[in-house]
Amino acid sequence: MKKTISIISLGCPRNLVDSEKLIAEFTKKGYRFQEHAAHSDTVIVNTCAFIEEAKKESIDSILRVIDSKKEGKVKKIIVAGCLSERYKDELSEELKEIDEFRGVLDFGREGDSRGRSLLTPKHYAYIKISEGCAHRCAYCVIPYLKGSYKSRAMGHIIKEAERLINKGVKELILIGQDTSLYGMDLYGKRKLGDLLKKLAGISKDVWIRLLYLHPANLDEGLLKVIKDNKNICRYIDLPLEHINDRILKKMRRRITRNEIISLIEYIRKEIPGAAIRTSFIVGFPGETEKEFKELVSFAREMRFERLGVFKYSREEGTPAYEYKQQVPEKEKEKRFNVLMSAQKRVSEAVNQAFIGKLLKVLVEEKGKDYYIARTEYDAPEIDGLAHVAGKDLKVGNFYNIRITDAYEYDLVGYYESGK
Ligand code: SF4
Repeated sequence: MKKTISIISLGCPRNLVDSEKLIAEFTKKGYRFQEHAAHSDTVIVNTCAFIEEAKKESIDSILRVIDSKKEGKVKKIIVAGCLSERYKDELSEELKEIDEFRGVLDFGREGDSRGRSLLTPKHYAYIKISEGCAHRCAYCVIPYLKGSYKSRAMGHIIKEAERLINKGVKELILIGQDTSLYGMDLYGKRKLGDLLKKLAGISKDVWIRLLYLHPANLDEGLLKVIKDNKNICRYIDLPLEHINDRILKKMRRRITRNEIISLIEYIRKEIPGAAIRTSFIVGFPGETEKEFKELVSFAREMRFERLGVFKYSREEGTPAYEYKQQVPEKEKEKRFNVLMSAQKRVSEAVNQAFIGKLLKVLVEEKGKDYYIARTEYDAPEIDGLAHVAGKDLKVGNFYNIRITDAYEYDLVGYYESGK
């Protein structure tokens, strides 16, 4: 009987792609993939160590698999990913039950022949277009874990996209630590626009979605490509992290308040109706009450369609770890709640403006009473959903639905055949 393998994939989509490669590696060796980890011969925990919460979740998952090993249900444990890269020595010292460690730096190289076993639903897939990061934001540990920025060759990405589309994928999601810098290291200039044009040309019936654009690298040429190609989602994922100039500088974000505002105004003018998603960090060392209020007013004024808030996490080995005036946890929590509730009102209003409109959605699954779908303004696992009433809709197909109701994150609508 074939040996079985399963994986617990934690963290972001970038980690998920690494998990897909690991599974492909083991299935090539003759293992059979199982979805549920509790009874597999080998279990891989692909960890995340980006912030404190992620580390805790990773450790908890490893401990659960160790329990299964002690009960004799699991024979071998492999720990991969960022946590294993960062804390391998400590982990092997403390948790003797772990049989093997894999880091992160061997992933994503050209010539990596592992292939991928998709862990996403059949109708969408992620494509990594780069590894590592060229920035050195003061709070972030990623460059120390993943190294400097490395783009994948455009030809390889296009071939991968074609393969996925031929398999029936309807939405390709481009990822990297900073997708907007794509090409700089390989071709001497930014090439994301060129890459997008080619990808958008493969099939007009496939959505192309971009995640993780760094505001300092987002240029007019790229926005024009998005504007001109209707199958590139009107979804601009632009992590801003803060708006106060002093904090932006301390964060080493390489962009100022005025530059950010001009960029947002430009996006709003050039691509009207696009959903801008951003994320902010609250409680960065030294962030005063006044600077925090500036952030809240900015979020209110800009009316971001989608917004994520993170509490600053003090990470060893980063410049901000050494900064004085660390903000107490209680205060971070308070600021987090204030910003989240300000956004709640924006988000509800943004969604309510869709009532009565016809929106194109991709059907994700058949629920009990409704189909679950997503608009181009919503990335999987990150943003909201649309609940669709209708008959005989197919999972993985696009439909135009009429919106009848809207909540903070989700929309409700119906499909009438022929629309
Ligand atoms: S851009 Fe900044 S926050 Fe993002 S991965 Fe690079 S260093 Fe980290």
